[in-house]
Formats: sequence, structure tokens, C-alpha cells
Amino acid sequence: MAKTYDAIVIGTGQAGPSLAVRLAGAGQKVAVIERKLFGGTCVNTGCIPTKTMVASAYAAHMARRAVEYGVNVGGPVTVDMKRVKARKDAVSEKSRTGVEGWLRGTKNLTVYEGQARFESARDVSIGPERLTAPQIFINVGGRAVVPALPGIDTVPYLTNSSMMDVDFLPRHLVIVGGSYIGLEFGQMFRRFGSEVTIIEMASRLISREDEDVSATVREILEAEGVHIRLNAKCIALSKRGDEIAASVDCTDGPPTAVGSHLLLAVGRRPNTDDLGLEKAGVEVDKRGYIMVDDQLRTSAPGVWALGDCNGRGAFTHTSYNDYEIVAANLLDGDSRRVSDRIQAYALYIDPPLGRCGWTDAQVVGSGRRALVGKRPMTRVGRAVEKGETQGFMKIVVDADTKEIMGAAILGVGGDEVIHCILDAMYAKAPSTVLQRAMHIHPTVAELVPTILGELKPLTGARTGAGSAA
Ligand SMILES: Cc1cc2nc3c(=O)[nH]c(=O)nc-3n(C[C@H](O)[C@H](O)[C@H](O)COP(=O)(O)OP(=O)(O)OC[C@H]3O[C@@H](n4cnc5c(N)ncnc54)[C@H](O)[C@@H]3O)c2cc1C
Repeated sequence: MAKTYDAIVIGTGQAGPSLAVRLAGAGQKVAVIERKLFGGTCVNTGCIPTKTMVASAYAAHMARRAVEYGVNVGGPVTVDMKRVKARKDAVSEKSRTGVEGWLRGTKNLTVYEGQARFESARDVSIGPERLTAPQIFINVGGRAVVPALPGIDTVPYLTNSSMMDVDFLPRHLVIVGGSYIGLEFGQMFRRFGSEVTIIEMASRLISREDEDVSATVREILEAEGVHIRLNAKCIALSKRGDEIAASVDCTDGPPTAVGSHLLLAVGRRPNTDDLGLEKAGVEVDKRGYIMVDDQLRTSAPGVWALGDCNGRGAFTHTSYNDYEIVAANLLDGDSRRVSDRIQAYALYIDPPLGRCGWTDAQVVGSGRRALVGKRPMTRVGRAVEKGETQGFMKIVVDADTKEIMGAAILGVGGDEVIHCILDAMYAKAPSTVLQRAMHIHPTVAELVPTILGELKPLTGARTGAGSAA
């Protein structure tokens, strides 16, 4: 006999728990199913543990720089990786048990542990158990891609998940993938004391970003001794004694990078291949992402998909925003939509990159007349006082309407400062509003109005008058 609920939530990532509790609070009888760790990727193998480790790496970095600030540390700085891991585990665990306790303590809500599979658009099985509900919400997230590189089966490798068990210092960490996850781990382990080589197939790091962002990030990492190998078109792996060799076929430098450990950081894939979606009539795209409309409904009536598995975002905040959209539509009579949101995220190297809106390339591609304001962090008082002057701030504005189109703050506090620009964009305020705002001194954000008063034509953008074709 199937157990009957008003709603079933599959997965306890960043959308599922909040939605389940909200539905239960509205009087619905809700089942939540989790197959592994409560809280999902962010809590256990993603944002929270990595940012906790980034903080340890920052402490080591600043300790090494202490003398520049007139502070004596008294001896060489070393890192105790067991304690780094223990600190990270404690922070993650608190969050994980918090999510689990919250779910288990919620009235009208039943927690199941196990692998959920659709039997139909209304029925889900967990082993021999069968649940049925008129509403099913999928929040199954994703996992690291293991690319089919030649030799991959012959060498041991780490992913972002198994990196969480590392409680020792790799002698030489070779990272395949020069994007967000690879760069965060790369700088972090360099600061812990490993030799680090990052191998990237493209001609620049984080190639989705603007060229000036990629170039400055490269400078920041190379200044700390991270080796970067670009244009690695045919990566192949092999064992070389106790070490791992990655042939990189780059246009310059030796043809092989040899390290003690290998981290694969080449992207993620959705956990949709073992869900029985075909039995529910839930359609996926060719990469396995669940296809959804602007309110996150799938092709099967009564089934929604939230978070990374729907391909509409790959962040904790996009997943949580998915929850808000679905809850607003179902419970508040408020027709919120995915298309209401503005692209925003951060890269947590140090200094961090805060990003919102369009890249320069997207602005140029739009055919709109655009202006840009840019300032190096060496000309930001707060950064100078802190002795952290790497990077720059950049804001792009529509020349005709003064709409803020995008921004990149690569510098100390960039992950926070970006929000003053993002919120002005949500308010649909022209750049002149922000330009006239009085900001607090001394802060990084105090330069945002100044930058908006120094706009120049954006290279490559249309300059002539009249509307874009
Ligand atoms: C190394 C790393 C660093 C990151 N850093 C950041 C960051 O700084 N900021 C940021 O915004 N994002 C970051 N992310 C991304 C972020 O972690 C995810 O976008 C976020 O966790 C949202 O995921 P989700 O809600 O889609 O599901 P997830 O958090 O992936 O959770 C899905 C859950 O579903 C469960 N599940 C899967 N299939 C089934 C099934 N069939 N039955 C039952 N349960 C199932 C899984 O066990 C898991 O617990 C990072 C990711 C990684 C890997």
C-alpha cells in the first residue's frame, strides 16, 4: 500500500527543505526523501566546507605577510591539515545536523532516507516503500563530472567530494579545470603549502568572464606561485612511479605536469540519470537537465524541478530562489518567475570576484551603446589601508538609458560590494541614483559612486546614436 501525502520533496539541497517546511506549515502532509547527506552539496561538499577552508588558507597567507603589517609571527608559518579539516568538518556538521533536525522537528513532515525513484508522475519508491502525492518537487542537485580523458582509469583522482577527506598536504596538486572550483582549490592548497598546477583547455582561466578578469585572476594566482597551463587541448593521464603525469600539450612550457595528487574540476552533471524520470514523463535536455518553464514546472503536470538539476542556475542562491518562486506561486498567489532574477555570483579566490548582470562581451553583443567605469584597487583607499590592492572594480552602464548592465568587483570585499550594484539593478534605478548616493568612508563601496562619475565608452560597444539594430 502506498502512503499518501499532499507533497513529496526529493532531495534536501538548498530548495527542498525550505519548501517542505513551508508546505507543512501551510497544513500540507509532506514527505522528504534524502539518499545521502542532509543539506546536499552546499552544506557537505560545496560552498560551506570550501569557504571554511578558504578562510584557513587566508589566515595562513596573512600570517606569512604579517611582517608587512609590523606583526611578528615568530618562525615559519605551517599549516596543520588535520585541524583545517576538523574545523571544516565542524562547520559543515553543524549545518547538516541543523537541516536534519529542522526537518525531523517539523509538524506534518515525514523524513525518509534512501534513493527515490519515480514509478509514475504521482508515485515514488524508496526501496520497497511506495509514496504517492499529487505534487512532487525534485531537488536532486548534481555531482562532479569525471571526464573520459585518456588514462583516467589508470590513475587515482580526487573530486570536490573526496577533497573533503583530505587531511594531509599533497606535495603537488595537479588540477584539471581552470574554472571556479579549480581556482578556489588551487589557491587554497597553494596557501596551505602544496605545489599547485592548474591545467585548463581554454586559452584563459574562467573563460566565461571578461578577458581583463581572467588575466587579473591569473596574475593573482601566479604571484602566489600557482603554475597555470592554458590551451591544454589533449590532456592524457598516466602513472609515473608514485606520481601522476598529465600530458598537457600546451603551446608553451614542458609537455607534462607531474604531481602527487590529481583533482578533477571540469564541471558538474545533474543527478537525474537514476530517478526514473521517464516513468513520470519528466523530460530532460541532452545534458540530463530537467526542462522547466519560467515557474519551474516540468513537462509532467504536478511535478516541479528546483536547484542545479533544472539547469537554470548552479548556485545555492539560485536554488533557494527557485524555492521562493515555487512557494510564492503555490502558496502566496504571487506569480514570481525565474526570468525576474538577475545573474549574480562570486568566485571565492582571495581577493574574491563579485559579479552581477552582463559581461562586457554580452553588452557588446547586445548592440547597445555602453559606457564603462573602471578603477584599480590600488586607487581604493580601504584596499590600500588593508594592504590588499590586487584587482579592480568595473561597472557597465547603458549610454542612453543609464541602466546598469553589469559589474565585476575583483578585489577585497568584492563579494559584498557587488550587492550595492545588484540591488540598484533590481530597483531598476538608473546609474545616476547610485552615483549621487553618499557611501560610508572608508569602504570599498564608497568608490562605486565615484566610478559611475567617470564613465567612458566601452571598447567594442556601439558608439553611434540611434536605436540598436
Ligand atoms: C566545490 C563547490 C563549491 C561551491 N561553492 C559555491 C558557492 O560558494 N556559492 C554558491 O552559491 N554555490 C556554490 N556551489 C554550488 C552549490 O553547492 C549548489 O548550487 C547548491 O548546493 C544547490 O544545490 P541543489 O539545491 O540543487 O542540490 P544539492 O545541494 O546538490 O542537493 C541535492 C540532494 O539531493 C539528494 N539526492 C539526489 N538524488 C536523490 C534521489 N534520487 N533520492 C533522494 N535524494 C537524492 C542528494 O543526496 C543531495 O543531498 C559549489 C559547489 C561545489 C561543488
